[in-house]
Amino acid sequence: IRRIYPFAQGKSDGDKSMKELLGGKGANLCEMAKCGLAVPPGFSITTEVCQEFHALGGKLPEELLAEIKTAVAGVEADMGLKFGDPKAPLLFSVRSGAAVSMPGMMDTVLNLGLNDTIVEGFAAARGERFAMDCYRRLLQMFGDVVLGIPHEEFESKLTGLKAARGVQYDVQLTADDLRQLVKEYKEVYKHNNLELPQDPWEQMYLGVTAVFKSWNIPRAIKYREINKITGLKGTAVNVQTMVFGNYGDTSGTGVCFTRNPANGDRELFGEFLINAQGEDVVAGIRTPMPIKLMNDVMPPIYAELVANTTMLEKHMKDMQDVEFTVQEGRLFMLQCRNGKRTGTAALRIALDLEAEGLITMDEAVCMVEPRHLDQLLHPQFEDEKKYAKDVLTRGLAASPGAAVGRLVFSAEEAEEWKARGERVVLCRHETSPEDVGGMHVSEGIVTARGGMTSHAAVVARGWGKPCVCGCEALQIDLKNKTLTIEVAGKDVVLKEGDWVSLNGTTGEVIKGQQGLKKAEVTGGDLGKLMAWVDKTRHLRVLTNCDTPEDALVARQNGAQGIGLCRTEHMFFATPERIAAVRRMIAEEELDSSHKLEALEDLKKFQREDFEGIFRAMDGLPVTIRLLDPPLHEFLPQEGPAMVALCKQLALELKTTVERVEGRLNGLREVNPMMGLRGCRLGIVHPEITEMQATAIFEAAVEAQKKGAHVHPHIMVPLVATTEEMDHQLAIVRNAATAVQAKAGVKINYKVGTMIEVPRAALQAGKLAERAEFFSFGTNDLTQMTFGISRDDAQAKFLSHYTRSGILVSDPFDTLDQVGVGEMVKIAVERGRAVKPDLELGICGEHGGDPASIAFFHKVGLDYVSCSPLRVPIARLAAAQAQI
Ligand code: ADP
Ligand code: MG
Ligand code: MG
Repeated sequence: IRRIYPFAQGKSDGDKSMKELLGGKGANLCEMAKCGLAVPPGFSITTEVCQEFHALGGKLPEELLAEIKTAVAGVEADMGLKFGDPKAPLLFSVRSGAAVSMPGMMDTVLNLGLNDTIVEGFAAARGERFAMDCYRRLLQMFGDVVLGIPHEEFESKLTGLKAARGVQYDVQLTADDLRQLVKEYKEVYKHNNLELPQDPWEQMYLGVTAVFKSWNIPRAIKYREINKITGLKGTAVNVQTMVFGNYGDTSGTGVCFTRNPANGDRELFGEFLINAQGEDVVAGIRTPMPIKLMNDVMPPIYAELVANTTMLEKHMKDMQDVEFTVQEGRLFMLQCRNGKRTGTAALRIALDLEAEGLITMDEAVCMVEPRHLDQLLHPQFEDEKKYAKDVLTRGLAASPGAAVGRLVFSAEEAEEWKARGERVVLCRHETSPEDVGGMHVSEGIVTARGGMTSHAAVVARGWGKPCVCGCEALQIDLKNKTLTIEVAGKDVVLKEGDWVSLNGTTGEVIKGQQGLKKAEVTGGDLGKLMAWVDKTRHLRVLTNCDTPEDALVARQNGAQGIGLCRTEHMFFATPERIAAVRRMIAEEELDSSHKLEALEDLKKFQREDFEGIFRAMDGLPVTIRLLDPPLHEFLPQEGPAMVALCKQLALELKTTVERVEGRLNGLREVNPMMGLRGCRLGIVHPEITEMQATAIFEAAVEAQKKGAHVHPHIMVPLVATTEEMDHQLAIVRNAATAVQAKAGVKINYKVGTMIEVPRAALQAGKLAERAEFFSFGTNDLTQMTFGISRDDAQAKFLSHYTRSGILVSDPFDTLDQVGVGEMVKIAVERGRAVKPDLELGICGEHGGDPASIAFFHKVGLDYVSCSPLRVPIARLAAAQAQI
């Protein structure tokens, strides 16, 4: 196998299509080099080697060492310098980079190739201050990343030295100071019983090893878990010639976006730091200057940067996030990737790129991710004027949106509070990759330090979480867990647990729990995109909802009907209704007046609701599922509530408490999800099906009389055999005939079956002879196909399965295409073979999951049905599946 792919300005063996193998960073370095940009020469070691490495139990494959030597020789020839040369050494960085970007999660080591002797030669050739600055950086990064010496041990030496010299920034340290710092860093090593390997090759191999190892460190694993990044081979390693942003005042380093990643504005956006190396910017140690000021300090370089990034954006056809370094007035490109952005920016950028002719309408539709849309649909502040007097301070508007929560000061606390069901806002001096867990559970993040490209800002934008950065007015006291802010000359002190609000769009930090409102779905940019979406997609999007109010919301969100109306939810709606259900359940005698009255009451309730829904969905199909859950779900847990209920029911039904208890306890099952539920209920209790069907048709008649166009689709749940279907079908059709005859009206209705047990999928041909439509209940179908209890599995073992890779993802979130999907496919084929125009849809939770939607499109379903709020996301996913 080929393990190494070299790159250098104007030539490279890789390109941007090879992200799986070379990682995103490696593939794009190759691409930039190919485009002729000034990329320092180097080579990528493939992600397959990362797999090899872990398969070998954490060892580099034997052959790799020689291959690295050959590749290094290539770079040496290119640069006219030698790695390990005591006079004019070539130095390298060793950089991680997986196929999917994981900002700051894995490790990178800079300035490899120096040792006690070489650094003196380097100093003689290039200047002592500069050489010592590189060496202290190597000692710190190598110590931290490769040898695991706590970062703070180095930090405290640096801080101590700066204090002793009375300077604020490390650039103010002299050559002698840095030489002193190198000495102190070596003491840190000694103190830890470690030393910096003096052999440059050993540094190289250990550096590569550390990067491969970093693929499996806890924070990287956690990041992948949170972001559902699965199925990757590992990280690639990029070994690259160092260029030096710390070579004095004509040098520097920066990061920039080709458009504003918070709102999408077309402008170069980012930060630049003079006389520094890359990690100084990201770590937020010195506050960098806005990128545009570069134009004042080094105008020709700025112009070149603008030219390069404009070219890159055109070439990559997307907004780029770029890392670069300037060495003595020469610009080098170190990284580019499609930039992370907020939902607002994603929408704006997609529409703009289309308008600029860079991408097609289809490409614009694909550029907005479902999660971006999700963000856009999230709440905003009710009224920004209303909280004006409560504004405490203003920082950088790093990631837009409104966040309201209780103040916490550490990532761990954020997670603890969240676990208790609290909403929190995380307040930090600055965040680091260790904090991602706590950041993720927070409503919003506020930091005292760091710029628009600081860790907090980048990560928050990626998630669409509101974030305010660089709020210099915040005085955080971690020990006492307080936050002090001077407002109009007076100190305001907030304690842990106090409510705060963040406006990530304006950068405001606001006291108290400010009111939120829902986002707009129609009109403007979003309206325009959604119009493209609807023009593109074939798959229809229906909604799962049970009330007229939800039906209206869903319609506003673009739902084309109801794909699942769960009648039992109507039974829970009021105490009166649940009481009627309980009387119906508790009364055994079919023709007793109690039973008949209870059924009559329920019919009335259902009729009202159905009528409202039919009218809200005027002209669109409304798919109603007959009663599905086991009856004991309508009863309280065993205990005092149950005792009281039995007493009361005995009174109402004029019978003994013992009989009621016997009857109700008899409903308990060992395995209720595979018990008396679904159509089995309607078969054992035909009066329930009859009552429901009658209610549906009577409501249809009423709604139709009032001018609505009504299309009831009645579906029978949990069918496994044709006999079950025939049984229920007869009851429904009889009810339809009776109601229509009585009213003298014709109702345009359909009866279909749900496909949610494997036997039904296999018998789909036979079922299609009877059913006018199929609706896949993929929650149950997943449960029954896997034999996994949906209600227990998550806590007991599913998360273990996904973490350890036994399952790629939770099959209840994303449809298992090869297994459960196969069931769907079989049913589609067998059903359509019998009835080519059989209508096919899916109403499980998967109807709102983009990856699953793509699959349903592929197997030829007519529609997906999902919760009202997911409808816009499903529409987008359906369009993307089409493209
Ligand atoms: P991350 O994935 O965390 O961004 P990188 O591998 O991109 O890590 O390295 C972080 C920073 O280190 C880069 O942005 C860049 O500024 C600096 N860096 C990496 N390699 C080099 C190099 N060969 N020369 C100069 N600076 C480098
Ligand atoms: Mg980087
Ligand atoms: Mg079901």
